[in-house]
Amino acid sequence: MPWARSRRAPGCGLAARGTSRWWGYGGAVAVSDGNGWVECACGSRHWGRFGAAGLLLVHGPAAQVDRGPLPGNSTVLLQHRAEWSHEGGTWGLPGGARDSHEDIVTTALRETWEETGIDASAGALLGVQRTDHGSWSYATVIMRADRRGDPRRNRESRDVRWLPVADIADLPLHPGFARSWSTLAGPRVRLVVDVANVMGSRPDGWWRDRALGAQRLVDDLSPLVGELTMPEGALVALVSAIVEGAGSPVISPDPAVLVTAAPTADEHISATVGVGDVVVTADAELRVAAVARGAEVIGPRWLLNRINEAHR
Ligand SMILES: [Zn+2]
Repeated sequence: MPWARSRRAPGCGLAARGTSRWWGYGGAVAVSDGNGWVECACGSRHWGRFGAAGLLLVHGPAAQVDRGPLPGNSTVLLQHRAEWSHEGGTWGLPGGARDSHEDIVTTALRETWEETGIDASAGALLGVQRTDHGSWSYATVIMRADRRGDPRRNRESRDVRWLPVADIADLPLHPGFARSWSTLAGPRVRLVVDVANVMGSRPDGWWRDRALGAQRLVDDLSPLVGELTMPEGALVALVSAIVEGAGSPVISPDPAVLVTAAPTADEHISATVGVGDVVVTADAELRVAAVARGAEVIGPRWLLNRINEAHR
């Protein structure tokens, strides 16, 4: 799915790329307000007052790349960090501090443009992987590029290159990237949540206000995406929440949790899921239809237990 420009904040288009401040806010929002160190609860200092985000941009066949594991001959865009920079001399992903008005996809695309000259905004959003330290978090946005642009390096880089996946583990890697690489290169799934059905298994008073109950469930999905793994180990990199009713007011500010309003959720899910999707529902007919299309199915209780664990 191409990352729709309309979903990004106004003024965040990549069109005015020649300017040093190409996101055109009129002073209402502080520009680059994310720059700064955070003394983290883990005992380390991290860059980015509102957390940080980077981009794993992959070029390779969609059939394998989109749900992983990444094939060894697919290539990823890596930055060899300048000696003077934090963890200088290591290879890592383009990325940096998130500003307060940005979502993680906007940060990842902006930093990639600044550091490599690659405009990845037309790529397909495959998901996210998150590391949350409580007082600081890092999100890796995973996207597939249809074509490899020629990167150019800026002063923060010694080199910027497309490198084969098979060679990555042998490079001197940035420690944060090294820790997440096996997850990023491994299998990923999209969780497709039958919202009304899952809500029905949770006696939280949703019957008093169905839209509010659906919004609560969608909000609860955000902390899971990019961190949750399926029982067999695949990362939940993307969540698609299907709500019923064309005029549904349910929204998600998280670019990795996509809300779709459909007249009937089961018909929509039956017609759109496929291999690499895990449908969350207790609906027996939908289960049969989803499995017939190559998707997996898991019951609402599994998801509700994961939500309860995240709240603890
Ligand atoms: Zn930390």
